Amino acid sequence: MEALQGLCTIVKPETALQDFAEQHAREVNPDNELALLGDVLGEPQVKSGVFNTSRRWPHGMILRVHFMDGDQAVHQRVEPIAHEWSQFANIQFQFGAGPDAEIRIAFNPQVGSWSYMGTDCSLPQLAGKPTMNLGWLRADTPEIEYRRVVLHEFGHALGLLHEHLSPVADIPWDEGKVIAYYQRTNGWSEEYIRSNVLAIPASDRYTEFDKHSIMLYPVPRELTKGGYEIPWSNSELSETDKQFIAEIYPFPT
Ligand SMILES: [Zn+2]
Repeated sequence: MEALQGLCTIVKPETALQDFAEQHAREVNPDNELALLGDVLGEPQVKSGVFNTSRRWPHGMILRVHFMDGDQAVHQRVEPIAHEWSQFANIQFQFGAGPDAEIRIAFNPQVGSWSYMGTDCSLPQLAGKPTMNLGWLRADTPEIEYRRVVLHEFGHALGLLHEHLSPVADIPWDEGKVIAYYQRTNGWSEEYIRSNVLAIPASDRYTEFDKHSIMLYPVPRELTKGGYEIPWSNSELSETDKQFIAEIYPFPT
């Protein structure tokens, strides 16, 4: 079995690196210190969205992007979709950067789609390794699949979490299947899978559930009990996605 289509994983640094990752986030963007202290972005006025406020890039940052492998025909289809975020967020993506780029993309078909989150991408311990995998994109993949996966994974690279990762999420994971799946596809330990996939992460900021969000969590039925699934049906930024990212990375007024 190949990696399950639709399943996306936010990859976090290993446990031993997590204190360093917080320190790194504060060095990249001193505003992240305020987030860690709980003084997050002023009053919560956003309509929807889930965001890790302690992994923000600085406003106006140009994030460099490097393709580590994959076909040029695929690269050319990924790039314009990623740039759509920059219409709403004060962040630019500079493609064609070298291997020291902040965002390094691989196309390994065995490990599905995943990304590190926000400033974790530029952790020095991850140098030379991918920070994002777009595992099921081919030159002949339909455009709607490109839009789903590229907008979604670049949302993680900006620091967005899954729309459904909030206290309202109550996904009936079949834990045995989830653990077996990631052991086989990613070679992860059970402990890492439990903390990275099955745990409900504390998210700093969220409000109402937006069923149109590009960040809606896709959950394949192969890994749940009772046939439960959340299809990955959204392929565009929702209005609240646009408003939310504009509040997180505002343009100068
Ligand atoms: Zn995701």
